[in-house]
Amino acid sequence: MGLYVQKFGGTSVANVKRIRNVAARVARTFDQGNDVVVVLSAMAGVTDGLIELANSASAAPDRREMDVLLATGEQTTVALLAMMLRDMNYPATSLLGFQAEILTNDQACNARIISIGADRIRALLEKRHIVVVAGFQGCDQNGNITTLGRGGSDTSAVAIAAAIQADSCEIYTDVDGIYTTDPNICDRARKIKRISYDEMLELSSLGAKVLQIRSVEFAKKYNVPVHVRSSFSEEEGTMVVQEDMDMERLVVSGVTCNKNEARITLKRVPDQPGVAAKIFTPIADANIQVDMIIQNFRSGGETDVTFTVPRANFNQALEISKKTADAIGAAEVTTAEHIAKVSVVGVGMKNHSGVAARMFGALAAENINIRLISTSEIRISCVVEEKYAELAVRVLHSAFNLDQESA
Ligand code: ADP
Ligand code: ASP
Ligand code: MG
Repeated sequence: MGLYVQKFGGTSVANVKRIRNVAARVARTFDQGNDVVVVLSAMAGVTDGLIELANSASAAPDRREMDVLLATGEQTTVALLAMMLRDMNYPATSLLGFQAEILTNDQACNARIISIGADRIRALLEKRHIVVVAGFQGCDQNGNITTLGRGGSDTSAVAIAAAIQADSCEIYTDVDGIYTTDPNICDRARKIKRISYDEMLELSSLGAKVLQIRSVEFAKKYNVPVHVRSSFSEEEGTMVVQEDMDMERLVVSGVTCNKNEARITLKRVPDQPGVAAKIFTPIADANIQVDMIIQNFRSGGETDVTFTVPRANFNQALEISKKTADAIGAAEVTTAEHIAKVSVVGVGMKNHSGVAARMFGALAAENINIRLISTSEIRISCVVEEKYAELAVRVLHSAFNLDQESA
């Protein structure tokens, strides 16, 4: 007998028929004597639709009200699932984020979970209820509804699993596990049986949206075993766990692609102490997350500073950068919106040389120009033109011998 959190993503609850499929699966787990907390996303496409609706209603939708709107997507699915389970004679209760005591900070549309009370969840489990919690949403200290950023239901699920000390957190999605690269981009992608929290953190941060990065942070911090699997088959998926001796030790274990960033360059900036702080402080104050930062060397007391930001924040970041450029006397600001960041990730990289050279060589062989490069101990990322993104992923997947035998 165990305690499970089962999270179902948008495609798994895309319509009534699929929610019925979820009900049957949850009921099966319950019938085996387990306690179950279900966490749901909105139906596929609904969150996008709500954002579009808000943008058609307002030129700059108020973020608090945006959260009130976005939370309705998950409110719908939890109610539908609980109804269905009740029709099947299972005691089921739906809870919205605030009812499940999911306390977040007050950063609207991108809130972070501070704590989960979980008393109500526990009390319901005690009564042998199936508890169906709305993912992606919480509530700040002042009682405002908040949402956790796109893909946030993963984080709701893992955080709840940590709070109630579940035996495992199962993430049901539209692929049957975590692959060496997005199986929808590369049909030679290979399923990984077990992956460490650290590698998954890198993959998630670099664009593998199969798990929201914060969910992996929670899983690592509270040691929650996460099982990513398909809601459409019974097959075992991928376990995301603490690194152990049985894990495959490949130099590169995955390739990712992120098309959600844009580049901004401040040209011919005075090469003086304090200039970088002047460029990045107002961007940080606007709560914009900068990803890559590259400073070129130029002679003549000047330098170029390039960085990338999420595309959603591009206009705001550009406006701020133009003001800074004027203030510090930079020559001009240039941009590129259609870029993609492709990355190779692997803990094995720590002990191997030549990974970067192999990556650059593989891209060069396809005539793909590299615009920016950044590295960490266990990853290398290159920015390329967006139109080459998929090709770059496939080429790197082959170059690092990740292709499965037959596809
Ligand atoms: P859900 O709606 O269930 O939360 P998501 O669309 O957020 O599902 O995440 C699943 C998707 O993640 C897959 O359909 C796949 O295209 C994408 N993906 C990206 N990288 C990977 C990877 N390395 N392994 C598996 N899926 C990946
Ligand atoms: N519905 C939200 C989204 O589309 C949260 C999620 O699905 O995880 O981003
Ligand atoms: Mg998701």
